[in-house]
This record gives sequence, structure tokens and C-alpha cells, in this order.
Amino acid sequence: MKIKIQGGHVVGWSGSHHELIPNGTVLIEGNTISYVGTDSTLQADRTIDAAGKVVCPGFINLHVHSQLNVGDYLIGDVTKKDYLSANWFVFGAPAKEKMTPQPPQGVAIGRKFALFSALKNGATTILDPGSGPGDFEGYVETVGQIGARVFFSPAYRSSDILTDPEGKHCYEPRPDRGRNGLEAAADFIRKYHGAHQGRLQGILCPAQAETCEPSLLKETAAAAKELGVGIHIHAGGNLREFIEIVYNYRKSIVEYLADAGILGPQTVLGHMVYAAGHSRVDYPFGDELKLIADAGASVGHCPHKYAKMALAMESFDRYVERGINVGLGTDTYPLDIVAEMRYASLISRLVDRKYHGARPAAVFNAATIGGARALGREDLGRLSVGAMADVVVVDLRTTRYGPVRDPVTALVEYGCGADVETVLVNGEVVIEQGRSTRIDEAELWAQAEATAKRAWDNWANRDWAGRKADEIIPPAFPVRSG
Ligand SMILES: [Zn+2]
Repeated sequence: MKIKIQGGHVVGWSGSHHELIPNGTVLIEGNTISYVGTDSTLQADRTIDAAGKVVCPGFINLHVHSQLNVGDYLIGDVTKKDYLSANWFVFGAPAKEKMTPQPPQGVAIGRKFALFSALKNGATTILDPGSGPGDFEGYVETVGQIGARVFFSPAYRSSDILTDPEGKHCYEPRPDRGRNGLEAAADFIRKYHGAHQGRLQGILCPAQAETCEPSLLKETAAAAKELGVGIHIHAGGNLREFIEIVYNYRKSIVEYLADAGILGPQTVLGHMVYAAGHSRVDYPFGDELKLIADAGASVGHCPHKYAKMALAMESFDRYVERGINVGLGTDTYPLDIVAEMRYASLISRLVDRKYHGARPAAVFNAATIGGARALGREDLGRLSVGAMADVVVVDLRTTRYGPVRDPVTALVEYGCGADVETVLVNGEVVIEQGRSTRIDEAELWAQAEATAKRAWDNWANRDWAGRKADEIIPPAFPVRSG
């Protein structure tokens, strides 16, 4: 099957950087790109008209937890005085006495909804660094149904983070210190790496820097080498984590990871907000950014989530200038990689007080070639001959954009995932006219809504103080009764 995408602003690849090809043509044969240029006479079985549209390499979203947005409504918990930029602790650390696993059906719906949402918003490649426990064969099936390219294996850790009856967060070691989890992840990768015509790829996911003991990280590095896969670890994600590591090991987070042998070109550090030198980190020792850059590790930057918590990485531009490979992820809802580019750009400018910082090209690079490098894949994130045929077409002829002078600037400064019209993964059209070609979206939506409502309605059963969701986060306005 040959597919031709014709007549759009094509963001092609020069061999070393993206370049604009006005009125361009992209030809796809099977699962790869066979031509990028200006020849409009090439024959194909199907032609997609891209006039007035921007034709981009499929975006790479480096942080999608395949679950519903239940916790996203609770992250701004106004009741926590030990917040310390706690991030997911506030809602996600279960009360020790009340641990009730999510019903498997709810887990499955959350996974499907999240992966689909990220894809529909323009991410052809998704890194899922941890989904709820459950049926992993079902996970593989879901990836098959949705049509996205997904990097995943079940996350594991040495210690759990729990909340005691007083609301205090505590770390509790697992009896096996995470070894069963590492083994399960390795088994998953041996079994499913390369499934669905290569769309499902393994990646090892030790959960968080401070919940994984050094020996588990060492074993992770060895397992990744043996399996030929990369590693994702949450690191520098909250201040409590920084303090835990400094107090327990007398090292910064990055020093801790480097000494455990896990810092290298195969590793993605999710968030990495709290590095020495950050305005909230009182740790004037070492140069963590240099360690990351020298090791060739990548940072999966999720600016929108941190802005919700009144926080920022300091800064996107600084990390890039220091030679760190930065990719983008959403983490929080919306799972909209197009809008995330704008957050990355604006927040970097704000942090640095530099209106001319974090230009559209820089954040577009992060969401494409930066993500590809993080995943060790030179054949993703670019429209070039021989690359995987992962393509996103966005309609720019709407009032959101107005007349367009430069398509990439327009997309970064004004765009959002809802404008994504067509998505191809592995040469197959999986989103057409903004709708899935593979799944019943209305059915999925109804299932997701019912599952989320059930979780919010029952929140008191899992909260450490037995509080309802509305007590943790009241609605924006009082709700009229009667
Ligand atoms: Zn995460």
C-alpha cells in the first residue's frame, strides 16, 4: 500500500535538522517513508490532501501514565501542609490500612482511554512509565487495538510510599525489595518486545529514584543491557525525594543515579526539576546538569504538570544549552503534546525572563528528535526516507491560527491537539478527520466517564482521613442544592 500526503507545509528532515518544504509531498510505502520532497506526480494507492495543513513527524510523548485523570483533579490538594511540591503523593500514596486495588475493568479502561487520548492529540509514540497493576496481556491487546507506538513494561520499586492514619507519608520496603517486579518486567519484555509489528517496545521502569535501592538500580542497568532496551526512572520530581536521597545517601539525586550505574544514553529521567542549582534546592555541591549531559542521558520534561503545582524546571533552555537531550511529556491531562510544546516554551521564557528564549524550533525539536533520541530511535521523530511512517497532519485553516506566516510557529504558539486531523503510525491511518479508524470512541468515552465517577464517589474509602474528593478539592464554585 502506497499513501501520498500532498500539498501541505511539510516539516522534512535535511539530514541534520528539520526544514520546511512548502507544497510538499510525503510518500509512504508499507511502514516506512520512501520520499519527502516536492514531486507531486508520484503515484500512490491513496492520496491525502494536506493543502493548508502542516505535515509533521509523529510527536513523541515521553510521559503518559495509562490511567484516567482521576488524580489530576486532586493534585492541588489544598489541605496538605507538608506539600513540599509533593506531586502525586497527595492523592496517589494510598492509606496503609485501606489499600484496595482498583477493579481490573477500571484499570483496563483507564489504559485504553489514556493511550488513545495521547494518540488522538498527535503523539504517535508514547512512553508509559507505569500503569496500575493488572492484566498485562490485556495491556498488549489494548496497544494492538489503539494503533499507537508504545514503550512500556510494568514498573517496580524497592519501597512503597504510603500514607499513615495521621496523613504522614512513609516509605515501606517491600519484602523482595522490588526483585519480583524487575523479573516480571524482564519477562514482559522477553515476551512482547516488538509485538504488533514493532509498535510495542519494552523499556524498564524502576519507578522513582528514592523508592529504588542502589542494588536494584544496578541490576536494572544490567537487565537493560541484556534485553537491549532503555530505562525510564522518575527523578527530581519532588522536593521530598531530593531530601530523602540527600539524607540517606549524602548525594544529589543525579549523583545517586550515576553511582548506581543507571545514568547513561539509554536512560530517560522523568521530570528532573530538582537539580542542584534550582531555586528551591539548597544544595550547593556538584553539577548535576553536567553529569546528565556527560552521561548522554535524557530528560523527559513535563512543564504543564509542574505549572499546575506552581513549579518549573529551571529551565528548558538552560538544560539544552548545557548539552542535555530534552524530550517532552504530558504526564497530566490533557495528554496534548501540541499544547505541551507551548507550555515548555512559555514557562522557559518566564523562568529565564527572556522573551526570546525557548523558540518554537527548540520545543518542536524536543517533541520530535529529542524524544526519539531519548528512546534510542533514529528512525522516529523525523520525516526522512527510511524513517518509520509516523506522521501527523494538522489543519491550520481555522480561526485559532488566523492567516499563517510560519506553520511551525503557528502550531507551537497557537495550536492544540484538537486540531490534529490525521495520524499515521507504521504507515497506517489510525486517526482520520480527528476520529479513530479502529475503536468505538463513544463507547470508550462512556466507560471512562462511569469509571472516573465511581472513583471520585468512593474516594473517602481510600483517603487517609476518610475525606470525600470535594473536601480535598472543592469545586470551582459552590454547587446549588435542590
Ligand atoms: Zn510519572
